Amino acid sequence: MAYTYDPQNIFARILRGEIPNKTVLESKHSLSFHDIHPQAPLHVLLIPKGPYVNFDHFAAEASADEIVDFHRTAAAVCALLGVTGPDGYRAITNAGAHGMQDVPHYHLHILGGRVLGRLVE
Ligand code: 5GP
Repeated sequence: MAYTYDPQNIFARILRGEIPNKTVLESKHSLSFHDIHPQAPLHVLLIPKGPYVNFDHFAAEASADEIVDFHRTAAAVCALLGVTGPDGYRAITNAGAHGMQDVPHYHLHILGGRVLGRLVE
């Protein structure tokens, strides 16, 4: 699979500092920030700093260091948000047209602070 990354996507622009963001946590290879249109009391996005369009691109082409960093940062964000207890949270990613992905830079949504409902009713 050949992936085409659009360097003008909004998250690439955030990474370049062209658009402001409310940062939650930054690591060597990842950045997390509050979603501009939160769908829950807690709604944070986590993105890799590298140019990956979606989950399968990231999984196929990111280095082991980037992949470990991303998941450790995701867990650190959950801990920072205080959602790692029994109430829990949702970590989810959208890909492509069927996944209704809007921004073509891989990102994890981390949602919490309320009962989120089932993905498929
Ligand atoms: P997707 O539909 O691609 O999975 O999710 C994209 C997410 O990015 C949406 O939840 C949307 O609210 C968020 N978003 C879009 N533009 C911006 C922005 O400029 N700043 C921030 N913080 N979030 C954004």
